[in-house]
Amino acid sequence: MSNICERIAIYHGDITRMGVDAIVNAANPGLIGGSGVDGAIHLAAGPELQQYCRGLGGCAVGKAKLSPAFRLPCEAVIHTVGPIWVDGRHGEAELLHSCYVESLQLAAAHGHYTVAIPAISTGAYGYPAGEAAEIAFAAVCEMLRELPQLRKVYLVAFDNTTHDIYQLLYSQLTEE
Ligand code: ADP
Repeated sequence: MSNICERIAIYHGDITRMGVDAIVNAANPGLIGGSGVDGAIHLAAGPELQQYCRGLGGCAVGKAKLSPAFRLPCEAVIHTVGPIWVDGRHGEAELLHSCYVESLQLAAAHGHYTVAIPAISTGAYGYPAGEAAEIAFAAVCEMLRELPQLRKVYLVAFDNTTHDIYQLLYSQLTEE
């Protein structure tokens, strides 16, 4: 597990400031920009991002699409659409897991080996933070094992609650 622990990191703050190869956006199916992290990414990238995204033809829940990063300090943005939380019995866990898997596979396929990912679906989409964090860690560890070219995956916590949960899960990982 040690190799995996070295390739996963927790970052507390604003994903739009990260100079990694690619950042992941918690987008909506229309890829038209929205609130939360989506709004912050579009604001920092500039209007060219929305213009580019219009040509991508939307994105299904659990899938991912890639765009340039325009004025952001990273090289690319991977837009993934998380599930809206209903009650946990509407396939939410599988779809959320798929967001992390598809995003990291897409990043690696385009030569982006350092990737930052926000807590997808845990804001406006209402996914409970603890359950979402467990899925995030499981999916990222799975992909780090499957894709040795991925150098570092940053799980980005914007709020304190998410940060506390991520730290706890990370400490459990290092004990394994
Ligand atoms: P969703 O619609 O998928 O729930 P949100 O953007 O509403 O997406 O929230 C997803 C997560 O992104 C939340 O944990 C929120 O705190 C976090 N977030 C909001 N702004 C930023 C930011 N600038 N950088 C990183 N994470 C952010």
